[in-house]
Amino acid sequence: MAMPGPFFRGFAAPPPGYFGSEIHEYQKREYAVPYPHLLAPLDLGFVTLPNRVVMGSMHTGLEEVADGQARLAVFYAERARGEAGLIVTGGVAPNAAGRFTEAPGSLTGGDQVPGHLTITQAVHEADGRILMQVCHTGRYGYHADIVAPSPLRSPINKETPRELTADEIEETIDDFARCATLAREAGYDGVEIMGSEGYLITEFIVPHTNKRTDDWGGPFENRVRFPLEIIRRTRKAVGRDFIIMYRLSVIDLIEDGSTADETVRLAQEVEKAGADIINSGIGWHEARVPTIAAPVPRGAFAWATRRLKGKVGVPLVASNRINTPDKAEEIIAGGDADMVSMARPFLADAEFVAKAARRRGHLINTCIACNQACLDHYFEGKVSTCLVNPRACQETELVITPAQGSRKIAVIGAGPAGLPCAVTLAERGHAVTLFEAANAIGGQFRIARNVPGKEEFGETLRYFANRLAELAMDVRLGHRVVAAELIEDGFDDVVLATGVAPRRPDIEGIGHAKVVGYAELLTGEAAAGRRVVLIGSGGIAVDVAVYLLESGRSTHLDTDAFRAEWGIARNAVDHEPAHDITLMQRSPGRMSARLGKTTGWIHRMVLQKAGVRHMAGVAYERIDDAGVHVTVDGMAHLVEADTVVNCSGQEPLRELLADLQAAGMSVHLIGGAERAAELDAKRAFDEGTRLAARL
Ligand code: FAD
Ligand code: NAP
Ligand code: SF4
Repeated sequence: MAMPGPFFRGFAAPPPGYFGSEIHEYQKREYAVPYPHLLAPLDLGFVTLPNRVVMGSMHTGLEEVADGQARLAVFYAERARGEAGLIVTGGVAPNAAGRFTEAPGSLTGGDQVPGHLTITQAVHEADGRILMQVCHTGRYGYHADIVAPSPLRSPINKETPRELTADEIEETIDDFARCATLAREAGYDGVEIMGSEGYLITEFIVPHTNKRTDDWGGPFENRVRFPLEIIRRTRKAVGRDFIIMYRLSVIDLIEDGSTADETVRLAQEVEKAGADIINSGIGWHEARVPTIAAPVPRGAFAWATRRLKGKVGVPLVASNRINTPDKAEEIIAGGDADMVSMARPFLADAEFVAKAARRRGHLINTCIACNQACLDHYFEGKVSTCLVNPRACQETELVITPAQGSRKIAVIGAGPAGLPCAVTLAERGHAVTLFEAANAIGGQFRIARNVPGKEEFGETLRYFANRLAELAMDVRLGHRVVAAELIEDGFDDVVLATGVAPRRPDIEGIGHAKVVGYAELLTGEAAAGRRVVLIGSGGIAVDVAVYLLESGRSTHLDTDAFRAEWGIARNAVDHEPAHDITLMQRSPGRMSARLGKTTGWIHRMVLQKAGVRHMAGVAYERIDDAGVHVTVDGMAHLVEADTVVNCSGQEPLRELLADLQAAGMSVHLIGGAERAAELDAKRAFDEGTRLAARL
């Protein structure tokens, strides 16, 4: 199983020890021109795009807040300055029925044009190009007045849509064309017509959701009339010199979706109807196959776009889980597509393209596909941001400016809280010393990176290793700090980012030889027998279970293995699990209820398929040679175990605090050191960055 290829070109390796032993993964490779295919211009006849990178559409939640358009203008302009070839906005509905939520989100009248002009002017001043995505949500809208070709409820929505009449279909097509005309008035360089992911257009195209018996349903020709009419009327309304990109579902991943042959025929008709570019959509939102989360290998769906190559004359865009310039270059150079679309990578790093073009790819802050601060925020009704870049969509709120005066600051701990804090402090002009007890940076993230499906976490460590090297920061690895030396060295401020220590639960027999810690297991210091009981069912317990089930045969780095596991290929395979696993928790409820909405279901499905058991509402009695003794509802149970893994959470590690405070030092706590309960890397990054912006 191949690891993703080395990623950097033309960079000076960080000093030995920053990474630990894995630094050799990131070897230098030189091209005469960096990324010659990715960075090649693309002539569309009436406009030339400077490179092949589309910043894909993302609904950020700013669309719904009061000063949202002004904030979006800053957000998009930063990405335009970062040299994204073509930016696509989040979805804008062509009429009220097509909006995403109860909040207004449509473009239907000239009075709305000035707000959009704020965005387009900012992008053009930054030398960028921007399309407005026109998206009718159909039965995916979260409001009471949703419509669809047929009155069939989606499994991810509690509302049942009303069936559109033939007249309403005609009106909706006109609404798309009017919306595009308004977008042109608002200064956009074009529109993307959203024809994938299970929204209204796709609902017309596939028999799964289109049960109509009139001219808009039945045979293929009738089902595709809706998108083709939209493109024709839009082209007629906007003229020739305005980009129309059509997002076509190259694979639906649902039952009764389009066949491969139908997809090719649709693409050919879309081109004839007047589209300039065909972008790829992968899977409907209701599909039970992961399409963008971390367990999906990089570029895992480029093959689905490739099926259209040679069948149409317009440029094709590949999408999903493309997060490095190397993967993007490989996709275009290998002939899978003419362009690539990346969305979340532009949350993680606005300068993705500029860095790739200047041979600074090793300094790209890579999207790790966690979904925790972007998609999960959207589904929680919050403004999106990015776990590894808390400034994303907060550009006007979280402003990093040069410090008033340089202070001498010690940051203790090089985990997800300490790293962004130290780097941001140094960027602002402070003199920073970063102390880390371990011989490598990363804290708990370095352990997490060993979990199959979390390999991308290593990219975050690579990014910080290179940033620290670039800033020439004084980094002291293998140095467990004691309070006295900080007091003696006379630091102006001390940031305690010392993180967490595993909890030792008060269970009889917790010291038994068969009990191991999650960190020892995940770093290979301890091994597990066949029968394994996990004390705890939180995020780390789930990761430990995945590690036990998938180690050595991770499907997350290999597209063929991934396709087989999720039934996207004919030769689906089932492996006999190497371990018999039981997760336990004292509270009632389902396993790891706090896992993110967009990823939790994937982990639960993987564990369920492998026969992992979950026991809730347990009272621990003792651990002994036989296994773990518990009572559930007053009944005694013995769960036999060869190994018991302690995944019962963590406690804050802040042993330096009292002495530093007693010495009158200015001390700041961030991340796990501040509060271990409900800690995750998102909070750690955010606290580290925000503190550094203030000091
Ligand atoms: P830590 O990561 O604990 O870092 C603290 C650092 O301080 C350590 O490197 C430690 O060695 C150092 N230190 C301590 N004392 C001293 C001292 N006296 N001198 C010098 N150095 C010292 N979070 C997510 O958001 N998403 C996930 O998917 C996710 N998965 C995870 C999977 C696993 C297996 C694990 C273990 C954790 C996972 N987490 C995840 C949690 C995430 O890693 C933590 O929330 C995060 O690491 C906390 O960051 P921190 O900087 O506060 O602390
Ligand atoms: P956690 O999610 O808080 O889970 C701790 C588990 O231990 C719970 O199941 C809890 O269940 C149990 N527990 C707590 N106190 C106990 C005690 N005294 N005795 C026995 N059992 C006890 O913490 P975690 O799994 O260690 O994860 C740490 C953090 O990392 C979490 O905040 C999580 O968000 C983050 N993380 C996130 C992901 C992700 O994919 N997003 C993955 C891994 C980790 P009961 O109290 O019911 O027994
Ligand atoms: Fe990528 Fe995670 Fe940031 Fe979303 S939150 S953009 S998935 S790194």
